[in-house]
Amino acid sequence: MFILSSPSGAGKTTIARRILAEDGQIRLSVSYTTRPMRPGEVHGRDYFFVDADEFNSKVEAGEFLEWAEVFGHLYGTPKAEIKAGLKAGHDYLFDIDWQGTQQLYQRMEVDVVRVFLLPPSIEELQRRLASRGTDSTQVVADRMARARSEISHWDGYDYVVVNDDINACFDKVTGILNSERMRRARQTGLVDFVRELMR
Ligand code: 5GP
Repeated sequence: MFILSSPSGAGKTTIARRILAEDGQIRLSVSYTTRPMRPGEVHGRDYFFVDADEFNSKVEAGEFLEWAEVFGHLYGTPKAEIKAGLKAGHDYLFDIDWQGTQQLYQRMEVDVVRVFLLPPSIEELQRRLASRGTDSTQVVADRMARARSEISHWDGYDYVVVNDDINACFDKVTGILNSERMRRARQTGLVDFVRELMR
């Protein structure tokens, strides 16, 4: 379970998309959300878009591995699909916030790797959050306040990567993914192979 979190404006979506495109072993955990669909988003690919009633009935039925309210909307990770996929040997990429990260870490007996992306500087973050020139100063200030509050949770992660160059950042994040895959405890499939080597 490979968790990628960051404030918005740190490049997480770009990195996540590239990992999913280039790494054949990892799948995206598609969350449920009550947030309205944005232009270009696809139901079932980016999120499962549901209303609050449906979301809450899933909470009551225990269908989420974790769920949280993030800036006024509800978000949750579906349990059944992920558990089945993990059992079948797939890796999962989670684009979730710090609250979901804490819950997954506390709840899951299976292993979780937590990665947090940081923007290279406050000026660059501001520039990225204001990139749509039409935004009012207040909108940009609100986004900055959210980003600061998300950054304050950076200490709940195993790895922290500063995204000052998207290619370098991608290489660092995939380096973490590949190293974690090589941990002996995760390579249970090698037991017979090693036994054979020692015969
Ligand atoms: P957005 O609405 O911009 O897609 O996402 C807003 C925030 O919600 C992001 O920080 C994203 O990582 C987080 N998020 C998305 N899905 C989930 C989820 O299933 N659980 C939790 N806890 N956070 C999520």
